[in-house]
Amino acid sequence: MERERILQKIRYLRKRLCLVSKILDNMREGVLIFDSTGIIRRVNRSFLEITGISYELLYGREVSSLDLKWEGFPTFSEVFDILKEEGAWKGEVWGVHRRGTIFTCDAVLIKAGDEFLGLFLDTTEKRSLEASLRSLAYYDTLTGLPNRALLYAHLAHTVFRAKMKGEKVGVAFLDIDNFKLINDTLGHEVGDKLLKAFSHRLTSSIPPGSMVAKFGGDEFVLVMGPLKDISELRSVIDRLMRTLSTPFQIEGHRVYVTVTAGVSVYPMDGGDPQTLLRNADIAMHHAKETGRSTYKFFTAELNIRVSERFTLESELREAIEKEEFVLYYQPQFELATEKVTGVEALVRWNHPKKGLLLPSKFIPVAEETDLIVPLGRWILRRVCVDGKKLLDEGFPLKVAVNISPNQISSGDFVETLREILSETGFDPSYLEVEITESALMKNKREASRVLNELKTMGVSVSIDDFGTSYSALNYLKYFPVDRLKIDRSFIRDVVSDPNDVAIATTIIAIAHNLGLKAIAEGVETEDQLIFLKLWQCDEAQGFYFSPPVTFENLLDMLRKGSFRIRGV
Ligand code: C2E
Ligand code: CA
Ligand code: CA
Repeated sequence: MERERILQKIRYLRKRLCLVSKILDNMREGVLIFDSTGIIRRVNRSFLEITGISYELLYGREVSSLDLKWEGFPTFSEVFDILKEEGAWKGEVWGVHRRGTIFTCDAVLIKAGDEFLGLFLDTTEKRSLEASLRSLAYYDTLTGLPNRALLYAHLAHTVFRAKMKGEKVGVAFLDIDNFKLINDTLGHEVGDKLLKAFSHRLTSSIPPGSMVAKFGGDEFVLVMGPLKDISELRSVIDRLMRTLSTPFQIEGHRVYVTVTAGVSVYPMDGGDPQTLLRNADIAMHHAKETGRSTYKFFTAELNIRVSERFTLESELREAIEKEEFVLYYQPQFELATEKVTGVEALVRWNHPKKGLLLPSKFIPVAEETDLIVPLGRWILRRVCVDGKKLLDEGFPLKVAVNISPNQISSGDFVETLREILSETGFDPSYLEVEITESALMKNKREASRVLNELKTMGVSVSIDDFGTSYSALNYLKYFPVDRLKIDRSFIRDVVSDPNDVAIATTIIAIAHNLGLKAIAEGVETEDQLIFLKLWQCDEAQGFYFSPPVTFENLLDMLRKGSFRIRGV
């Protein structure tokens, strides 16, 4: 009876043990059980998998003989002391796996009766993920160079060291000239390879202790210092620009690259990374203006220019809200009859302090800041309102309005125009848009789409500043265009300069060949007029006939019959 009971108990215990074994072997955590002398009693499958230790090596061995590192302690015996004393220990454990890789675990050791139980949660993958995330956060994935975040940290540290030593730090902002063109013509893959090769050349030609980081798509920053004096900086940048200008060989292409750079120096040009980088960037832009492939040091005078520009930008923003603009109109004449056929709208800014400003003072800033889009919308509306008024007054004149490239590429130009036309009730066949040749060439596909839509709406198109920029004449055939405007610069000396004669007459011939009209702008003298008539230029505008005038003056002059009207 007694024996039967004992056997039953054993069977029961065996079952339990079996269950425990099953649980242990199916746990995700590694389990290590050892006794009070530190001898290993049991491990589970996960423990063997995580640590890569083979079972035979464990049997009857002490935990301390395992090649494990215990966070914060040189050996296991210190960990064991704490465990015995406090009943628990928690920390990170790591070691080298049989595969040769490093593993890490979050471990918990506890006292369980006479024995001790260790649970090991594998964190290897999480760790390596963290590490790669960290490298992702600080390095550029394409070139492997430090990125902006690391640059800021490094620069802050370098400035700090320089401050302690009373030394200097040089910051050079480098920009690849025409990188976009390389990308567009040779493709992104070549562009990427070029960036890699460029980065490699850059890092191998900078002095030890300096750092080069990737700042943007094709922008790099070199940090040099702390330096006792900056004479070295100049020679390093000179050398760098020479090295980078030897052509790159990429996928069978010889790619020529030039670099424009701007330099700022701690402490003269700024005391913190942000200011130093901003000023180096300003100097770089200044260098670009004076011709690419050079470098410039930052100067205080540059700063003034930038802040003036900044003021202008915020004033411009406000001016758009307050509608501080006026449109002037310059009449356009048919040369055969000397009758007015249209007017060109030219914007002016009625600045509260500076008075009437010409477009050259603010259009470039408006274009760079994209403020041209809301300003352009205002101009379009005004033009349509005025154009409608002219029609209502019995002056059927075509009104031409200048359109900036950004307006075309803003995506909703045609939509906006359609809205304005319907709101103002202006007949689109009296509207003409003037687009520069370079704007058309910049984005041929978009420009062609917009131009075709304009055509279907009945709006005419003229190409402004014709002849001043590189253009592919064969494209002209595909753009629905009505007029070519010969730029003022060719008209100025058209009577005396044989080059201008050739250009002006060629433009007239091109226009006629394509079935378009030619209009000359900036006609100031009778000689110019005679010349243009002789070469059968169709139309002209300029001070000879009339300067741009306010809408009221225009109406006045039209009503008084100062011009003979032909209209359209
Ligand atoms: P543009 O389209 O080439 O305009 C012709 C410029 O020549 C105007 O200067 C006009 O006042 C000037 N002009 C007219 N006749 C003569 C002349 O006989 N002799 C001389 N020396 N100059 C003459 P403005 O009004 O200062 O405009 C300059 C430029 O600003 C324009 O060049 C155009 O590119 C831009 N612009 C003007 N209004 C607008 C506008 O509403 N929107 C946009 N996006 N740009 C505009
Ligand atoms: Ca124009
Ligand atoms: Ca022009």
